[in-house]
Amino acid sequence: MALERTFSIIKPDATRRNLTGKINAMLEDAGLRIIAQRRIQLTRAMAEGFYAVHAERPFFGDLCDFMTSGPVVIQVLEGEDAVAKNREVMGATNPEDAAIGTIRKTFAESIEANSAHGSDSAENAAIEISYFFADVELVG
Ligand code: ATP
Ligand code: MG
Repeated sequence: MALERTFSIIKPDATRRNLTGKINAMLEDAGLRIIAQRRIQLTRAMAEGFYAVHAERPFFGDLCDFMTSGPVVIQVLEGEDAVAKNREVMGATNPEDAAIGTIRKTFAESIEANSAHGSDSAENAAIEISYFFADVELVG
């Protein structure tokens, strides 16, 4: 195992319900360190660019509407095996399939409003981190 970094978003359904602290506590309890964090309002262009891989999926328009419906908290997490560990703490995309104790099982409202995003590979993590953060903002 290696010290790794991943990119995380606390989504608008969670910020709306004031769950930032509770979600951060779950990430920290799993051994992940929040080494950068910013609360922002995504523009339509930012959401479309971030989710460009899903541009052809039927839910793309709704997803971008949702991701711009309120503030998000963007984060860089660091830890052993951070990409896989964060995906484990988040749980499955559909909260109905997520394991008990995961962020999505505990908080998600639906498959779309599922409270958290986490990079799905180290390669995508690097791309997603640099989409939002400059290197000097990452304080490990
Ligand atoms: P994320 O990329 O946000 O961490 P994920 O990797 O678990 O989630 P993806 O397949 O990458 O899932 O989908 C990206 C996001 O698109 C999901 O988190 C969810 O908000 C939304 N989404 C995925 N599938 C559907 C669907 N069938 N209907 C509506 N929204 C969906
Ligand atoms: Mg994904």
